[in-house]
Amino acid sequence: FAKGNGRNNIQIYNKDIHSNEREHQLLNGMKHAMKRGEFSLYYQPTVSAHPLHYRRAEVLIRWFSEELGQVSPGEFIPLAERSGLITELTEWIVRTALIQLKAWDKEQASIRQLSINISAIHFQYGNVYDLMKRLTDEIEIHPSRIELEITETSVMKNMSQAVATLHQLRELGFRIALDDFGTGLSSLNYLQMLPIDTLKIDQTFVQDIAHDTKKQAIVETIIRLAKHLGMEIVVEGIEENVQYLLMQSYGCDYLQGYYFAKPMRAEELSAVYERNAAQ
Ligand code: C2E
Ligand code: CA
Ligand code: CA
Ligand code: CA
Repeated sequence: FAKGNGRNNIQIYNKDIHSNEREHQLLNGMKHAMKRGEFSLYYQPTVSAHPLHYRRAEVLIRWFSEELGQVSPGEFIPLAERSGLITELTEWIVRTALIQLKAWDKEQASIRQLSINISAIHFQYGNVYDLMKRLTDEIEIHPSRIELEITETSVMKNMSQAVATLHQLRELGFRIALDDFGTGLSSLNYLQMLPIDTLKIDQTFVQDIAHDTKKQAIVETIIRLAKHLGMEIVVEGIEENVQYLLMQSYGCDYLQGYYFAKPMRAEELSAVYERNAAQ
């Protein structure tokens, strides 16, 4: 190779090997993780803005691997998608979440709705409709208790088929949320075309919003637009009181973020909701 560039080439080469090695470890690990019970579900409250009510939560998967320690879903979900493991994993996530909701109902907990993330690849190639129908029938949970979170990438490959699937799901009663809104390329287009109930505004829009009047204008306008379209709005990533107050002043419906609660275990969540209901 060209003189002077050799060093860079070698570094890049090494980095590739390392990331392949890591991927290899993760893939192997994931194959055993299910059997070993290394996956668990955490739940993060989605809080209504006024008055402050705890009724809903988002389901977030966690992997505590014996060999690799904790691995974030941002890292292993894309790998699960590429390797095909996502089908089995999603079935496990949905089943576990529905069984948990059923258990909460038995103890009369005040958790009305769970939001479940559906990965883009699974939405495109897995049969989400059949999966959701089969599991809600089997576990006897009414579909209206479940919101499915999809992203723009889930629908962009085949828009007409995606819209048809979403209509079918909504006919059964499932709610549909568009996640990470604003991070894609043609967000406004999707707002117009997709049958959705809830818009989740990505956390990047509220980072440093207190000092950024442009961000304030953008978020306020998205909220107003979504309301005009009859959608509910969830703003993600609320970490500070000032962000909460701003969102409240914009008429935002639901909030999510460390300011209210981090993702937590099922037992913790029902305790938080009971405390809140008693107030
Ligand atoms: P997401 O669906 O956008 O989930 C929100 C992420 O933001 C979660 O990260 C959550 O823990 C984090 N978060 C919540 N509040 C705050 C806050 O106030 N500040 C900051 N900085 N972050 C906050 P997590 O759990 O690491 O998940 C990352 C991504 O992995 C998710 O993004 C989602 O795309 C994917 N994921 C997580 N669980 C599942 C799952 O069960 N199925 C699928 N398909 N994807 C999942
Ligand atoms: Ca989500
Ligand atoms: Ca999100
Ligand atoms: Ca995200």
